[in-house]
Amino acid sequence: MLSIAAKNSKGLENGTAILLGKMRQAGRAQTRKDLPAFRIVLSKNYGIQGNDLSGIAVLDLGSREVMLIVSESMAAKNQHIQIRQKVTASGYKLLEDRLADSALIAEINAAISKGDVDTNSSDVKPIIDELLQLAIKKKTSDIHLCCRESSAMSLFRIHSRIYQNRQFDVETSKQIASYMFQNMAEPRTRSTGTFSFENKSMSCMIRYAAYGEQYKLRYKYIRLADGWDVIIRVLPLEVGLKAKTFIELGYEPSQVNQLEMSVNRSIGLIIITGPTGSGKSTTLKTMMEFDPKRKFKKRFSVEDPVEYKIFGVSQISVQRSDHENESENLEFPGILRDILRGDPDDVMVGETRDKIVAQMVADFVLTGHKIYTTSHTASAMTTPTRLSRLGIARDILADRQFLSVMIFQRLLPVLCQECKQPAKEKLSKKKLYLLEHKFGIDIDQVYCCNEHGCEHCDQLGITNSTVVAEIIVPDRVLRQYISEGEDSKAEEYWRHSRKTGFDDPDMQGKTAFEHGLYKVSQGLIDPSDLELEFEPMESYEVMEIRE
Ligand SMILES: [Zn+2]
Repeated sequence: MLSIAAKNSKGLENGTAILLGKMRQAGRAQTRKDLPAFRIVLSKNYGIQGNDLSGIAVLDLGSREVMLIVSESMAAKNQHIQIRQKVTASGYKLLEDRLADSALIAEINAAISKGDVDTNSSDVKPIIDELLQLAIKKKTSDIHLCCRESSAMSLFRIHSRIYQNRQFDVETSKQIASYMFQNMAEPRTRSTGTFSFENKSMSCMIRYAAYGEQYKLRYKYIRLADGWDVIIRVLPLEVGLKAKTFIELGYEPSQVNQLEMSVNRSIGLIIITGPTGSGKSTTLKTMMEFDPKRKFKKRFSVEDPVEYKIFGVSQISVQRSDHENESENLEFPGILRDILRGDPDDVMVGETRDKIVAQMVADFVLTGHKIYTTSHTASAMTTPTRLSRLGIARDILADRQFLSVMIFQRLLPVLCQECKQPAKEKLSKKKLYLLEHKFGIDIDQVYCCNEHGCEHCDQLGITNSTVVAEIIVPDRVLRQYISEGEDSKAEEYWRHSRKTGFDDPDMQGKTAFEHGLYKVSQGLIDPSDLELEFEPMESYEVMEIRE
């Protein structure tokens, strides 16, 4: 008897495995367009409720025929089998089982209540899990959830490019935004006690585990004129992960020399600028970990909040108020003052963005410390202008001991080496002419992205992102220009120090655009990505090498 029962259950197991295999082969429905037209939703007739409303739905196709749509997680646990049996027992003909996104199933079951957002609802949790797991699987660095008056959608930034992910109805997107803030954030990291879509901005940190790895998610809510955005930065918790080298980040050997020399100095300001998401924190972390004298130093960092663990650094996480009103931001300077009393050698200040912090950074450097910080500027040479606007006097900026190095960087996507296509087949004659004659690059070595991609690159045509940077170590002449407030003359002077052509790895006097050109000449990046991130090759102003 026992053996027959065992045999039966084995047979059932095989049957469900085959069924699941078939469902996976058919692919996953993401929108209503992927489904046939149906008359009504029968889910509630079969007792489907609560969490299951985002896991399974029964669609009435007419003529006593039905279709089941099931989420991947529900199907994997075989929880749809029972509903299957109930449906056929009630006299319906089951035409098809199909996998579908949780968000679509919830939408069809009307699981997400309209009207007031109930943040205690857990119906939305499976939708959030599916979104986060997909993002992490695709190596997304930032998830954007954008809600406007009548629709919402998610976008993924992968290898520094933006890709559309899926659409949501407005109610579902609201539930996702509020549930993550209220129910998933680490309590002490919330910028405000109560979640409200009326708030100008809100932020928090979320711990999340997926595929056996730990992640930190930095959540930021921004209210807009006609809706809101939530931007979620995905940060892997680097336990036991080997730190990257400057070369691996994308710097050239001549630039690595400049970076290492600046770190080797015991004092001075090391400042990295660039737009959001340009990898500034990663470069800072790499510099601090490189410091050969780090073991003999007391090093502190104040960050908003701490993104990466840095070996041998006492890191302090601060939740700065998101509003620009400086009088509200007194916690940050308070902590900096405490650190100064704590006998530091080196200090990292996450971002220098207001006058109080800029003044303290200047005081730190002038009292013989080495400071690492970031800022937002459009080039390395506009750093003195920015610091001067933040109240640091020109004669201080021009002091020999003050500015160690100014770095500006951006990230560009790296072409998949398996499927990249020759530029000669893809670019217009005009662009090829510019590459060859304006920039002196061998166009036989230039490649473009294959939009269809291949297996190797997950159909993206790109596999990674890489730094393009300009690095300026001020010399006597440059400091003179800085003290006189002649920043454009300073830039001209620095750019005329270029010694080599654009296909040469020596980066002396070369801008970030020109670093990008070098990578184009090596077939590493698509010239169109360079233009998209900077400016068209037509308008770029070349400064001739001075004889
Ligand atoms: Zn490829």
